[in-house]
Parts: sequence; structure tokens; C-alpha cells
Amino acid sequence: MGTVLPLAHQRRNAGPQAYQYRGIFHTEDSNQYFSYPLIIPSGTQQVVIDLAYTSNNGSNVLGLQVFDRNGFRGRGRSLEAERDWHRVAVVIAAGCRTKGAVSGEIAPGVWTIEIDTYSIKNCCAFELETAIYRGRPVPEPGGELEQDLPLQLPYTQRPGWYRGDLHVHSDESDGALDARDLLRLAVIRGLDFLAITDHNVHTAWQQFTPGLPEFCLPLNGIELSTYYGHGNALGVSEWVDWRIGLGKYGVNEMIRQVQELGGIFSINHPRTGKLPQDHACWRAEEVDYSLVGAVEIWNAPVYSNGTGANQQSRRFWDQLLNQGYRITGIGGSDAHYLEGSRQPLGIPLTYVYARSLSQTGIITGIKRGNVFMTAGPIVDFTATTNSGAKAMVGEELLLSKRQELIWLQVNVKDAPVGSSVRLVKNGEPWMSEAVSHDGLFSIAWCDKDALGKPDGLTWYRVEVYAPEQANSPGGDGLLAITNPIYCTATVSWIA
Ligand SMILES: [Zn+2]
Ligand SMILES: [Zn+2]
Repeated sequence: MGTVLPLAHQRRNAGPQAYQYRGIFHTEDSNQYFSYPLIIPSGTQQVVIDLAYTSNNGSNVLGLQVFDRNGFRGRGRSLEAERDWHRVAVVIAAGCRTKGAVSGEIAPGVWTIEIDTYSIKNCCAFELETAIYRGRPVPEPGGELEQDLPLQLPYTQRPGWYRGDLHVHSDESDGALDARDLLRLAVIRGLDFLAITDHNVHTAWQQFTPGLPEFCLPLNGIELSTYYGHGNALGVSEWVDWRIGLGKYGVNEMIRQVQELGGIFSINHPRTGKLPQDHACWRAEEVDYSLVGAVEIWNAPVYSNGTGANQQSRRFWDQLLNQGYRITGIGGSDAHYLEGSRQPLGIPLTYVYARSLSQTGIITGIKRGNVFMTAGPIVDFTATTNSGAKAMVGEELLLSKRQELIWLQVNVKDAPVGSSVRLVKNGEPWMSEAVSHDGLFSIAWCDKDALGKPDGLTWYRVEVYAPEQANSPGGDGLLAITNPIYCTATVSWIA
């Protein structure tokens, strides 16, 4: 079957809970029924289901229906088409509905959304999104909604966690696949964004065909592969001179050029290869680290010493953080798709909290450090002081006095039982707890002495490790890692 149906299960900090499925139907998928589960939590007041698909001048026709545990609840109504995108939607609430739907109680449990593929004459891309509203007022009983559906902003314009791969090679340099195929693969794997970062060229964008970027945002980038190490220029659409050592051109000039073009500079796989001579290993000297935006602390192992390289890269990052630099940790598969390569796209995934799914949104989110990386578990890490200040990853907590308590709250989803959740303080393991059950695992630690000494720097991050070291993509046990939450004093104390 030609169809692969990825699930992007989005978490939202505010607003409705949303599920999203995206994929592509092909001709051979015509006249079939495709089901997608939908978990309705108790207390749900309203369900909005929205299907958008490429109609190709009417030659593709999809239908939409929804079933609760007891049976049929509604069939989608066509909305006005936007360019080549057709949309059908269903709204169900206690006292209101779209025509073709049954209003009434929203019973919790697993519902089923079904797409019927009435006709697929051409490749048909689709996006199915569901919003579940809880505990908020619904329209007056009896009110029927037709064209005036309370649909949300398009998915891509909402703030939220978006996930993607920040380091991939196409056949514009030494990768095997072309940029279109990489983007298709990213759509299939449910990635929201993909940075194609070819060695010293920025030319992949010329391969993009209209349509696919609607499903996965391509980020412009280049892997600046110098004689003194590699670094990604992310979010730049122009060529950046990588030729450090040519005339007076130095590493800091190169990084500044990336900044001036609106991008962010990431040091790639800083400890891959062997110091002192390996080109891939970061060995540039006199680097102004205040210019560096990110470090790739999780690179899918390319070389035989890949595992150790990632651990050493994290130590390199720790040293910079302990010196007071706030540099964002990011991940990248470095996928080349060469014969026998071990780097599938999307492992690890980098999650970025962004105002919108746009190049500016993602780059800004990375600059802010609102980022975690994962090969599975979803990690939500926040810190709160006893005076009520709160921070997420990448943010700073200002402490007004030395003895202020800090609560470090961690929620982990989809971690295997027996894996361990580790809290790291200033680069050292500080607390650890074994995951004891499936589903959502929560733990809170309290630090009574966050800033041990006057003018001390303190940062915390969370790491998740597999029960057995070998059962992780990098072979080093790491399943997920967050960026730090930082603590600083608002006033100097008297020691
Ligand atoms: Zn590289
Ligand atoms: Zn690379």
C-alpha cells in the first residue's frame, strides 16, 4: 500500500488538545476506508474534526466520518476550498452540531475517525486535525452551526511544540537522496520541519516542489565544513563563506555572517572524529562563544566512535554552560542515506517550542533554548520558585534570595518502564528516579540551595536513559535530553 500514516500528537500548553494525522494517498488507495483513533477524555464539551486534502481539480475526493463507542456520530461537511485544498469538517457538541452530525453527550473513550477514499486519481496529500475542547462554554442548545464553524487558526500559525531534524544531507552534496525525497520522507515520518544542510552549499531549495512544504517546513541551511570543524548555519538562504584561513577570514567572521543573515550558528558534532587532526571535530581556536547559538550535542553516530563522541560533545556543552554561555543544545540525524548508513532521518528528533511553524518561529525557538531532543520519550520540564516564578527549558529563574526553594517538575511520556529520569545540576548527575509505570510519569524534586554561593551560576536539565544501555539509538542509553533551566540572583548577597 502506498500510504504511510504518521501521527503527530501535539501537546499544547493552552487551548484545545489537538491530534493531527498527515499523509499521502496514492491511486491504489482508492475506494478504501482508513481509520484513525481519537482519544476523548472525560469532560470533553466539543469535538472539531477538520480534514484538508489536495483535490487536483476535483479528481481526488475524500469523505470523512466519525464514530463514538456506540456508533455513527457524524459525516464531514464540505467547506469552501482554498486554492487546490478541499476541506471537510465535523463539529459535535452537547447542544450543537454541523449538519450530518448527531449532537448530544460526548462520551469519553476511544472514538474512530474514518476517511473514505472515494476517488484518488492523483497523489493526494491530506492533513487531518482534531481539536478537543474541555470545560469551556459551548454554543446555546439548539444552535446549529453550518458554515460558521469555530475552527482554530491553521495548525502552522499556532504556538506549540514542533518537531524536526536539523541536520540532513541531500544529493546537492554527499547525500544519496534528492531534497524532494528527503522532504517526502520527513512528511511520512511526521516531522514538522526539516533542515537540509549540505556541505558548503545552500542549493537544495531549488529542488522543492510546491505542495510538500505545506506538510513539512523546509528550513534553509548549510553545513559549513571547514578545516577546523563543522557548523550548521540554520535559517540562512544565502551561501555563507566557510573558507576560514583564507586571507583574514576567521571563525568569528563566519559566525557573524550567519547572524547577519538572520540565522543561527550551531557547532556540529564537536567531538566526532579524533582531535587534533580530524576535520569533522571542532578544533577552531579563539572562538567567541557568545556568538555561538547552538551545539549539536546529539548527532546520530556516523563514525565508529560515535557513541563516545556524543557523550564527549555533551561534556563540551557542559563546560560552556558552566562558563556562563547560554548555548542551546540541539540534535541532528546527519542522515546521508548512503549504502549501509545507520542514520535514519528523524533520530534524534529535536522539539522546538515556537510561536508558529515558520522559519522565523523555529529559529527563534532554538535561540531561546526552548528545545528538547528525543528518540521517543516526550519530556516536559519546568521549575517553580516558592515565590511563584516559573520557567520552562531555555528560560531563567530570577532568585531574590539565596535560600529560595526551587521545585523541579518533570513529566515524561512514553518512556519504557525501568528507564531512569535523571536531573543534572551544573553538569553533574544530581537526582534520579526509575520510571515505574507506562503512560505519563511525573516527579518533582526540590532544591533548597539552588545558588550555593554568591554570584553562583546554576542550571538544571533532564535526561532520560533506557533500562539497558544498548536499547537506545546511540548505544549510550540516552533516550531524551532537555535544554537547561537557568537560575541567577537578582541581587548580590552578603556571603
Ligand atoms: Zn559534519
Ligand atoms: Zn553533516
